[in-house]
Amino acid sequence: MKVIDHIKKSKGDTLFSFEILPPLKGTSIEGLFNSIDRLMEFKPKFIDVTSHREEFIFKKHDSGLLEKIHTRKRPGTVGICAAIQNKFKVDTVPHVICGGFTREETEYALIDLHYLGIDNVLVLRGDAQKADNQFIPENNGHKYAIDLLSQVSALNNGHYLHDEVENTNPSDFCIGVAGYPEKHFESPSLNTDIKRLKSKVEAGAEYVVTQMFFDNKRYFDFVAKCRKAGINVPIIPGLKPIVSKKQLIAIPRNFYLNLPDSLIQAIESAKNPDHVREVGIEWCISQSKELMENKVPVLHYYTMGKGASTERIAKALF
Ligand code: FAD
Repeated sequence: MKVIDHIKKSKGDTLFSFEILPPLKGTSIEGLFNSIDRLMEFKPKFIDVTSHREEFIFKKHDSGLLEKIHTRKRPGTVGICAAIQNKFKVDTVPHVICGGFTREETEYALIDLHYLGIDNVLVLRGDAQKADNQFIPENNGHKYAIDLLSQVSALNNGHYLHDEVENTNPSDFCIGVAGYPEKHFESPSLNTDIKRLKSKVEAGAEYVVTQMFFDNKRYFDFVAKCRKAGINVPIIPGLKPIVSKKQLIAIPRNFYLNLPDSLIQAIESAKNPDHVREVGIEWCISQSKELMENKVPVLHYYTMGKGASTERIAKALF
C-alpha cells in the first residue's frame, strides 16, 4: 500500500514509521530483522530502507602500490525491501538515489521493485563522493532529485527510456522526496530551497520527509513557509535521538543543522554514556509528543540500524 494512502486512511491519527540501513556487506540480515522485530508491536505503517552509492577504497598490494577500488559497502536495498515485506508484511520505501546510478540501472531497479510489489519510493539525489567537493552525476545519470523523479513519473505513465513497449501493467509508485527545515547546505537560502521543493511536488511528489531537527520550532516554521509557498502535501517530520556525546559534533557537521543550547548543555553535563542516552531519548520523546499534539501525519525515526532507542521512544508514544 502507498504511504499516501496510509496517511489518508489514518483520519488524522499520527502514524509510526522508521528508517533502517542495509547491513554492511558480509553481515547477516538477521541483526536487521531483530531490530525490526522489536519495533513491530508499535505497528509501523512503512519502513524506509536507505540506499548507498559506491565508495572508493585503496587496497595496498605487497609491492606497496595502492589500488583504487570502487565498492558498495551497503548493497541490497531492493532485496532487503522485498525481504522485509515478505517477513513482516509491512510496506517498505526503498530510497532511490541519483548518485552512482545511470538512468538504465535506475530503470531496471524500478522494474524489479514493481515486480516485487513495492509501491513506494523516496527519490533523492544522494551526496557527493567523499573525495569530491561537489556532487557529480554518473555519465547518463541524474543531476538533481527532480530529474530522477521525472523518470519515475514517466515509468508510472508507461514510458520506458528507450523502448517502445506495449505496457499492460505500468508501475504506480507513490513518490516521496526530502525537505530540509534548516535548508539544504548547498542552497543559497531557505526560500530558494523551498522553491526547489515545490518543483519536486509539482513534478509528482506526494509527500515530503524532513531531515532530522532537534528544535520543533524549525519544523513548524518550515511547514508554515511551505504552505505559504503553495506546497500542500503531507510533510513528515524525521527524528533521531542523540545517543552519544560525540554526536554533538558529528550531527551538525554531517547534517548541517543546529542543536538547541539546552540540549547541548544537558548532554554535556550527563554523568556517563547511559545518562547521555537517557537525555537524548527523553528529548526525542518530548519533541515527538509536541509534534503529535500538533497532528503531524507520521512520526518517522532514523534508527541508523539500531532499534533500541526508537523502541524506548515508541513505547512512550504508540
Ligand atoms: P535535490 O532535491 O536534488 O537538491 C539538492 C540541492 O540542489 C539543494 O540545495 C537544492 O536546493 C538544489 N537544487 C534542486 N534542484 C535544483 C535545480 N534544478 N537547479 C539548481 N539547484 C537545484 N542520501 C543517500 O545517499 N541515501 C539515502 O538513502 C538518503 N536518504 C535520505 C532520506 C532523507 C529523509 C533525507 C532528508 C536525506 C537523505 N539522504 C540520503 C541525503 C540526501 O541524498 C542529501 O541530502 C542530498 O545532498 C540532497 O538530496 P535531495 O534529494 O534533497 O536533492
